[in-house]
Amino acid sequence: MTKTIDSIVKKEKDIVKKVYNKNQPLFPMLEKIKLYTSRTGVLHGIRKIRAHGDQTATIETHCGQTIEVRDSKNGRVSRWLRNRWLVEPCAKCKIPAWKLEKYSTTRFVKKRSR
Ligand SMILES: [Zn+2]
Repeated sequence: MTKTIDSIVKKEKDIVKKVYNKNQPLFPMLEKIKLYTSRTGVLHGIRKIRAHGDQTATIETHCGQTIEVRDSKNGRVSRWLRNRWLVEPCAKCKIPAWKLEKYSTTRFVKKRSR
């Protein structure tokens, strides 16, 4: 079942601490939040990300998986991260609570350019 990170992190209020531009490329976003949602909805912690040009990157997760990712603002990974959807956090990655909490207080919005 897909849910958002908010149903996993316990907190009292719906606080928003960090706001990112929704239309930014995927890789810098992954670099910042250091989280990756897999095809099956498992949220992994990113140990390393290596970009090969601006089209593809290799992500190394804390649980030891190596995943090839294609940059696409509207691709699955971007969409899942932006909506903060997940099925469950990876048990092996042991993502610290503060990181999940931070993710739950992060929003991706459409920013107007001036
Ligand atoms: Zn993992």
